[in-house]
Amino acid sequence: MTTHDLLVVGAGPVGMALALALKDSGLDVVLADARPAEATAADPRVLALSHGTRLTLERLGVWQALPATPIDTIHVSQQGGFGRTLIHATDYGVPALGHVAAAGALAAALRQAIDHAGISVLDETEVRSLTPADDGVTIELAGRHAGSRRALLAVCAEGSINADPTETMSRDYGQHALIAMVHATGAARGTAFERFTPAGPVALLPCGEAYALVHVASPQQADTLLALDDSAYLARLQAHLGTRISLTAVSERLRYPLGLRVRRSPVGARTVWLGNAAQTLHPVAGQGFNLALRDVWALADTLLRHPGDPGAPATLTAYARSRSADRFGTVRFTDTLVRLFSNDLPPLRHLRGAGLFALDMLPPLRHFVAKRMMFGARAWP
Ligand SMILES: Cc1cc2nc3c(=O)[nH]c(=O)nc-3n(C[C@H](O)[C@H](O)[C@H](O)COP(=O)(O)OP(=O)(O)OC[C@H]3O[C@@H](n4cnc5c(N)ncnc54)[C@H](O)[C@@H]3O)c2cc1C
Repeated sequence: MTTHDLLVVGAGPVGMALALALKDSGLDVVLADARPAEATAADPRVLALSHGTRLTLERLGVWQALPATPIDTIHVSQQGGFGRTLIHATDYGVPALGHVAAAGALAAALRQAIDHAGISVLDETEVRSLTPADDGVTIELAGRHAGSRRALLAVCAEGSINADPTETMSRDYGQHALIAMVHATGAARGTAFERFTPAGPVALLPCGEAYALVHVASPQQADTLLALDDSAYLARLQAHLGTRISLTAVSERLRYPLGLRVRRSPVGARTVWLGNAAQTLHPVAGQGFNLALRDVWALADTLLRHPGDPGAPATLTAYARSRSADRFGTVRFTDTLVRLFSNDLPPLRHLRGAGLFALDMLPPLRHFVAKRMMFGARAWP
């Protein structure tokens, strides 16, 4: 039976980033994905990538090939409340607070680098089961490369969490996200908008000549919004956003149910869960892939610092310990934002308005929020 050092379940952006980060490690890494090679390039999501993510993608050699739009200002406000705050890249001495890229383009750039590096991907091959034992994991594959393989470490980057409820924490926000591309006039290029409304947040991210929209609503409202024709939908969205930007056109709208699911531990016997397979977050603050890439970098670093058996319990414990503060800090940050702002009680609304005003008036607080957006938990004092 073929034995690998690592078998990565899922050749999405997270699995591919890990394989690339380990390309000069001497470890034998293979990826398996249930879908054909070109499927990930069709991912319709658009991602806000932090400054830290950009630095990592540069090191992986994929940034240069990625069409990305810089965000130089983030405008945060709430419908029916007072406050608004502006966060500028120039205040932080960075060229941009973050960048916006299509998830499909990112996947295509990563795949190109994977193929160029000669890393093997078993396309159209589903991982049916993982059976860990003391000396390795037995992996059953179905599809194009059907059969059994062994690996010292299985890395699950399959994009969702299938686990016993005792192993996870979860929260159903009762919200769905509609995503689409919109065209608009009236706003300075490079400005991203995050608008909190009682039904849920609405984000507009500058993406090329257009904006990527993430419109969060209750499942029932999402049904209604999806049934509207384009001009009725645009009018509804415009009412949410106010007058600071003028919407002119919208593409087809797609829906994603939102919730929070987190594995209490990102490691198990000879197994690591990465990316959405470790924690699936609400997209409100655009943290999901950014956090995942920090996980990827830390795992690669831990494996390099612990040569020998990559699935050894001490190695996996060191990885889990190194990620604890960032994982749970990012989960709390995202969860608090969603719950604080998705509520229409008037006292809370004014408090929130005051909060955003305070954010504007109190540079240290604004720095904390801005740095968390740019770097994640490394922003902690
Ligand atoms: C609406 C929305 C907006 C978002 N916006 C942002 C943002 O602005 N910024 C940000 O950082 N994050 C954002 N995210 C989160 C981000 O999209 C995810 O974190 C990221 O795409 C997860 O990548 P992944 O590689 O873990 O999973 P995926 O991209 O889902 O890849 C998983 C892969 O595993 C394969 N697979 C699954 N099961 C198996 C199996 N058994 N065997 C073999 N292969 C398998 C699948 O075919 C797939 O190719 C957003 C998410 C949503 C829903």
